[in-house]
Amino acid sequence: MEPTWLCPDLAARDRLLDMDERLRRPRAAAFGLLGAGVLAAVPHLGWRPLVLLAGAIVVLVVASLAAKRVRTPEYGFALSWAFSQVMLAIAVALTGGIESYVLSWLIVPLVTVPARFGARGVVAAVGFVTVLVLVIAVAVEPSHPLPQWYATTGFLSTLAGVSILSFALMRSDVDHRTEAVLDGLTGMLNRRALSERLEELRAQAGFTGQTVAAIAADIDHFKRINDEHGHARGDTVLVEVAHRLRTRLRAFDLAYRVGGEEFVVLLPGAGVAEATALAAELRDTIAAEPIDGLPVTMSFGVSATSGGTFVGAELLAEADAALYVAKARGRDRVIAA
Ligand code: GH3
Ligand code: MG
Ligand code: MG
Repeated sequence: MEPTWLCPDLAARDRLLDMDERLRRPRAAAFGLLGAGVLAAVPHLGWRPLVLLAGAIVVLVVASLAAKRVRTPEYGFALSWAFSQVMLAIAVALTGGIESYVLSWLIVPLVTVPARFGARGVVAAVGFVTVLVLVIAVAVEPSHPLPQWYATTGFLSTLAGVSILSFALMRSDVDHRTEAVLDGLTGMLNRRALSERLEELRAQAGFTGQTVAAIAADIDHFKRINDEHGHARGDTVLVEVAHRLRTRLRAFDLAYRVGGEEFVVLLPGAGVAEATALAAELRDTIAAEPIDGLPVTMSFGVSATSGGTFVGAELLAEADAALYVAKARGRDRVIAA
């Protein structure tokens, strides 16, 4: 996919698509609220609000279906966003122009812009709403076709709409951060968290001169478990293996799931001997009892730095090489680099 003005890099487009998906229901709720407000105006304004509402729903549904099919979905989303602003601007124009009791509705779609479109999108969106408001102010004669209680409900529906949308955005941001470092199946830290931790340990070891040990662990013949007993059973084994590994570790040892059935344990302050002893304990814990009725074993490779600063990738590569030797020598064993 090509970068565009709205999405200068691929990450921006991924985020847009993901956020848009997460916003689907809260956005429907927020617009449903405003739609109810439009319906409530029918006794005062006649049929025009209905046409407005029906038109808005049709165009938004079509736009959201079409947006996924085009090569640059960001412009589809941007168009449907702009369209919903225009619909709200028409609602404002029909209900008294710049003195309309629902002027604040123009704020609601703005809430969704920063999370989806980034800085350029925000500038463009604010500019667009400003133009709409100025056009309304200049071109529409102010009037008060709605009863005064509308001033209260108009503002309260804006308040509710903004709350629903900003809460959904906050939640998805928290989810994003959690997914970024946690493995969804086992709840263990993932590869990204491992790289970050290695970087911290490297800097720390440079100061303190402490050693850092790594254990690479891999379930033996895991593919067979999947093939013979199904993927779901395989997942059960993974969860239990993760659990057994964790219960054997000290509070400051960190365990990561770095691939399908591959794990890494980092031991700050430990040397090869200490890490090898721990790996032997981990091996025992896994092999001691069948998991969900299946005998499971694991192979381990151990490496350690000699103190002071180190290269994280090298530490892991040495542990991996030792693990490879453990596999070659018949599995279910611990080999130190
Ligand atoms: P070895 O003893 O040499 O490690 O053999 P192995 O079969 O464990 O090794 P291999 O790497 O060939 O197979 C790993 C399998 O793990 C392949 C893949 O289908 C499975 N796998 C990867 N991720 C998951 C997962 O999240 N759940 C399940 N159930 N299986 C997974
Ligand atoms: Mg394996
Ligand atoms: Mg493997």
